[in-house]
Amino acid sequence: MKFASLGSGSEGNALLISAASGITRTTVMLDCGFGLRECERRLSRLGMVPTDISGIVVTHEHQDHVGGVFKFARRHRIPVWLSYGTYQAVRHDCNEVALHFCRDGDQLVIGDLHLTPYTVPHDAREPIQYCANDGNFKLGVLTDAGQATAHMVQALSGCDAMMLECNHDRGMLANSNYPPSLKVRIGGAYGHLSNETSAEILNSVDRRRLKRVVGAHLSRQNNTPELARAALDSALGGSATEVMIACQDEGFDWIELR
Ligand SMILES: [Zn+2]
Ligand SMILES: [Zn+2]
Repeated sequence: MKFASLGSGSEGNALLISAASGITRTTVMLDCGFGLRECERRLSRLGMVPTDISGIVVTHEHQDHVGGVFKFARRHRIPVWLSYGTYQAVRHDCNEVALHFCRDGDQLVIGDLHLTPYTVPHDAREPIQYCANDGNFKLGVLTDAGQATAHMVQALSGCDAMMLECNHDRGMLANSNYPPSLKVRIGGAYGHLSNETSAEILNSVDRRRLKRVVGAHLSRQNNTPELARAALDSALGGSATEVMIACQDEGFDWIELR
């Protein structure tokens, strides 16, 4: 299994997860917050074309995740998986797109990949995040959640790699020039994960197989890559797990699990 990001942050998110068995290869895109041209440009940077994508799985209806999904899916005839709650929020954009509904606990089979949606606390209609498995490796993805839950920790246990939101540093958010209502929303129980909470989650999951952690969805205003990395490093306590940070403009290049 390998994975790569087209970009990560409040201005747009898209993750590629790819697995091969024998002569087939399946690549799934998780969210697409970029317009058609921008998405194609970012795909080509990773050596991909739209027809390489077998399916798109959606986490929730916020524009940085869903903004480009349906135009891209319609143009390239790619099926989309989403929760019914998310569908209710985006139904006017879905014409002529093949939709599949999914919810917490389902197991989606898309070619060589199995995806397991799990529920997270976030201010959307029915937000889910996903773990992906190719029979050999497990990748856990978690962004856009306001707090740690036992359910999330259980879903993310036993991963070989994790992409974990490190949205903000609490001190930087408190001292930023954001309006008070926005600070409350971001820092609240249905907002976004602070470095500190992400470190707690990382500290709580079963990490025996964990080789790679990518910090993601960083705020440009309220975090720095150095603070996010320090928080993840502290949770890992000097283990051999490799930490890196995804960025808005570049995402990150393919990471191959072996
Ligand atoms: Zn987001
Ligand atoms: Zn969101």
